[in-house]
Amino acid sequence: MTSIAFIGLGNMGGPMAANLVKAGHSVTGFDLSPASCDQARNDGVTIAGSAHDAVREAEIVITMLPAGKHVLSVYADLLSSVKDGALVIDCSTIDVDSARKAHGMAQERKLMSLDAPVSGGVGGAKGATLTFMAGGAKNAFDRAEPILSKMGKKVVHCGEAGAGQAAKICNNMILGISMIGVAEAFVLGEKLGLSHQALFDVASTSSGQCWSLTTYCPVPGPVPTSPANNGYKPGFAAALMLKDLKLAQEAALASGASTPLGAEAAQLYALFNGAGHEGDDFSGIVNFLRGQKG
Ligand code: NAD
Repeated sequence: MTSIAFIGLGNMGGPMAANLVKAGHSVTGFDLSPASCDQARNDGVTIAGSAHDAVREAEIVITMLPAGKHVLSVYADLLSSVKDGALVIDCSTIDVDSARKAHGMAQERKLMSLDAPVSGGVGGAKGATLTFMAGGAKNAFDRAEPILSKMGKKVVHCGEAGAGQAAKICNNMILGISMIGVAEAFVLGEKLGLSHQALFDVASTSSGQCWSLTTYCPVPGPVPTSPANNGYKPGFAAALMLKDLKLAQEAALASGASTPLGAEAAQLYALFNGAGHEGDDFSGIVNFLRGQKG
């Protein structure tokens, strides 16, 4: 049994902390939201009176927060209360630069650290089937792996500090671009009189095959479990897709990488979000594209 502190018990952090409790660990948590604390308490997490109280006795401190600024401010405030020899793991999706700064702050305190963002969404967090992409020293990864594997089905060491975040934004840039590509093909197919099922049957077994088509098909029918069959309820909300595409564009600008389709995808998702679809599943972009004049 490991003593674990969990800061940020929202849609993702709450069920992740609950899975650590189920695995037999002692989990003390804290969140600014009383509702998130109540839910986590029901799932067996001990709720501390403050974030400082939550981390004081922990061997491992996990954060699952909205964005880089939250992670850096929590680290600046909290690391002085973390005990010597502890390992800090940030599972939030944040920019690579902030992730590296967070590692630097941990290093100054002589703490081991990892960035370990996830893919798999709320369903994956609940079902302990997340994929973790970790960045940091090998000894930190080896220590974290048995804990992370209680919340996910795959844990990958991607490289040094920030490499987990780099892998996450590259993956999600592929996802955003490929979803728009699949959606455009369905919109074009409709204009050409092609049924959704016929296009799916061909493309899903041809060179157009990809996850956005075969698992997350953006039109109702061919894949019964995709959000298109459930009123485009997320799933993976368009607001989060836009967040990740913006992170990819920031990283592309900072590193000098050429990502023209990533830039276009970020713009289209900004328009989709701006039209009031932040809370819709990101595959709903097909309806937005259908509404545009060719
Ligand atoms: P969320 O908003 O539901 O949860 C974040 C929680 O952090 C909130 O409960 C908030 O009260 C808490 N918080 C903020 N500042 C705090 C502080 N200083 N101290 C303590 N608690 C604080 O968000 P989420 O959906 O759980 O996402 C968390 C992270 O996971 C984000 O970085 C997101 O991009 C990433 N992510 C989300 C999904 C998804 O499908 N929701 C998928 C993959 C990755």
